[in-house]
Amino acid sequence: MNKDVVIIDGSYLEGGGQIVRTAVSLSAITQKPVKIANIRKKRRNAGLAHQHVACVKAVKKLCNAEVEGLKVGSETLEFYPKKISPKDFKLDVGTAGSVSLVIQTLLPLGLVIDKPVNITIKGGTDVKNAPPIDYIKSITLDILGKMGYCGSIDIIKRGFYPEGGGEVKLKLNPSTLKSVDLIEHDKSKFVEGIVFNQNLDGNIPRRIRKSAIDLLMKNKFTPNIKIENTKGLSTGVGIFLKCGTIGAHCLGEKGLRSEMVGKIAVENLLKELKTGMALDKYMGDQIIPFLYYSKSTVGVSEITNHTLTNIYVVESFLDVKFDILEYNKNNCKGYLIKCDMINIAQYR
Ligand code: ATP
Repeated sequence: MNKDVVIIDGSYLEGGGQIVRTAVSLSAITQKPVKIANIRKKRRNAGLAHQHVACVKAVKKLCNAEVEGLKVGSETLEFYPKKISPKDFKLDVGTAGSVSLVIQTLLPLGLVIDKPVNITIKGGTDVKNAPPIDYIKSITLDILGKMGYCGSIDIIKRGFYPEGGGEVKLKLNPSTLKSVDLIEHDKSKFVEGIVFNQNLDGNIPRRIRKSAIDLLMKNKFTPNIKIENTKGLSTGVGIFLKCGTIGAHCLGEKGLRSEMVGKIAVENLLKELKTGMALDKYMGDQIIPFLYYSKSTVGVSEITNHTLTNIYVVESFLDVKFDILEYNKNNCKGYLIKCDMINIAQYR
């Protein structure tokens, strides 16, 4: 194998699918081939799942990569990117595979395309253990937008587990990032939100909305929460809330009372806001690849294994070393993440 291939250990720390997504994105944008071994070794069903195969296929389309090991169950993947060739395409993640995670994989490509790309992705928009599509649309893209990133999302249809059937249009525009410091939350008390309901009785979203509004007002926030009722292939309900740069959500499920769905989402939001930091724990990992390109410093509520794992992948590709510092002032308690450019020869 070519000695310039970046070697990534897929069992590192979190040992999940995110390592694969970040590695193939970075491989495409740095044009460095990558070999990932021990894929998802820390998951019960090790190896690539359908969702990860879809993510790799999406990046492959934009860089005509030659790929070995791209099949469900594969524990090793070799990805050899070629020149970036922006083109529109459609991709079906299959049933309720997460559309958001495909978008997460594609977003870094916005930094290297030279013309806009329109991508239609089908699958699940609101599924467990993945960012809800509203989070990507109004938190991830909002924060990246502050750094100069230019992309947008249209949610055409919602898709829930198990049937999926969601559809999202992603537009990537050529983007160059600038340096901004996003350290503390803006202290806004205004909460925007949406309760989405597909195929269920209209009383359910009304109850979710009411419980969220009651708890938000009790905590002196000003809520503006709309209800979206749709019909579709799959059935589901949930709430997404946004306060400044912080997002929180809760998906409905059998046995979980509507009032609890609203309450859990608000409690998740309040927990993050209490830290006073600009970014919540999920953005903490999602922002890592972009920090190198924007030279920004961010304040996050928590350092998760996902964050440390993404740092490992980015440091494996680029001449960079991330610093994590405790932050404790202005009633804020969290962490600063910044990256220093280094001489790779010194670092290794
Ligand atoms: P697996 O764990 O099966 O390997 P995976 O590929 O789905 O799976 P992870 O490696 O765990 O996933 O990565 C999940 C990603 O989804 C992370 O970037 C995480 O920040 C994001 N995420 C998960 N839940 C949320 C949420 N509630 N809001 C925003 N982002 C989320």
